[in-house]
Amino acid sequence: IVCASMCMENKRLLVKLMSYDNIGDVEHELTEKHHGVQYLPIYRLAFSIYANELTAQQLVRLKESLDDVKVDSCSYRSRNIVLIIGESYNRNHSSLYGYETPNTPRQKKLYKRGELMPFTDVVSPWNLTSFVFKHLFSLYTVGDKGDWCDYPLFPEVFRKAGYHVTFMTNQFLPQAKEAVYDFSGGFFLNDEQLSKAQFDTRNTDLYRFDNGLLCNYEKLKDEGKDKPQLIIFHLKGQHVDYRTRCPKVQKRFNKDTYKESRPELSDKERTVLSDYDNAILYNDSIVNAIVDKFRKQDAIVIYVPDHGEECYDGGVHFYGRMHSAEITPRLAHAEFEIPMWIWASREYKAKHPDIWQAVRKYRKRPYMTDAMPYLLLYLAGIECPQYRDELNILSDKYNEKRPRILKRQVDYNVLMEKEKLQKEQEKAKENNKKKR
Ligand SMILES: [Zn+2]
Repeated sequence: IVCASMCMENKRLLVKLMSYDNIGDVEHELTEKHHGVQYLPIYRLAFSIYANELTAQQLVRLKESLDDVKVDSCSYRSRNIVLIIGESYNRNHSSLYGYETPNTPRQKKLYKRGELMPFTDVVSPWNLTSFVFKHLFSLYTVGDKGDWCDYPLFPEVFRKAGYHVTFMTNQFLPQAKEAVYDFSGGFFLNDEQLSKAQFDTRNTDLYRFDNGLLCNYEKLKDEGKDKPQLIIFHLKGQHVDYRTRCPKVQKRFNKDTYKESRPELSDKERTVLSDYDNAILYNDSIVNAIVDKFRKQDAIVIYVPDHGEECYDGGVHFYGRMHSAEITPRLAHAEFEIPMWIWASREYKAKHPDIWQAVRKYRKRPYMTDAMPYLLLYLAGIECPQYRDELNILSDKYNEKRPRILKRQVDYNVLMEKEKLQKEQEKAKENNKKKR
């Protein structure tokens, strides 16, 4: 009786965990503090079968959408398109955007030289990697009919149009003992049929540091060289456990860096903050190295991380992401506001002055990254039935008023307006007090 009553709660949570109808919700449930734990092998086996069943249903729908991949024409507007997908990057922790610790010296240099244009008002649709990946890869955007897996994935369209697609990932490779996060984020990239439909070239190993991935690319870069190229780098970036994301010799910040600027933090917290800044600094060297690889080519590079990250922001003593908390303006600033920039080589700018002019002109537009495929399709000059110009940030027809719904919960624009109003009211109150 004692044993039964003690394990009853976990049994209840296990039933809850295994009663969802898609893998994303299961993953989200696992981010909760109290979730079902499979203590016995038999439960783990049952959970594996259940999780695979769920992804199988989405794979079937994705494979059905393969038939919808149609390309009317392709002008190969850009010969080489490079998409860098970063990890856990809070815009308010980037010195390129005004953060005070100098953790992006190389990107700042590129910006000063006029080679790199930062976009200033970009958010991610989710704060979980796998959810963002589904939105980033699918032609689905938040608010569309159906689900993300009912729409084609953009690399499929690129391959159909004649691009050679390379995917270099430092996170999502099929492997044994996968965490549910990697399973949920990578299953539609790693399924044999879908992988073949999306990618021509892929890496097969994961690396401790992102530099390993770049070295691996050097060996693979000549594949399909005579064709126009789409190259996707998926970095480990500033993923949790920041301490291990930057080689020791490249670390420049420590807890003493913030003695004056962050007196409210403990020594331990300042150490974590320094690890995060060091990881951003290392990431700066990685994106700069990628840019250098394409400097002498006709190439355009887009950098975007999957989502933001908390690192003691807005007076909260917390780092990581709060998955079950309500989305407040403070949380949105930390976990959803992300950096994004476009870099173009000299040759590219000379060949496409119109595109570069649009990048400069429109870099302050509001944007959510679920629309990323439409920017990529435009850059490639791909005409297909699914293409929607109002989602392309560089188009004159871009819809700046599109609601940016975070996590299927709140509209970012509304949230920010509320915050602005609140601040104004507080200010007015203070002024009144002073007058009295
Ligand atoms: Zn992530």
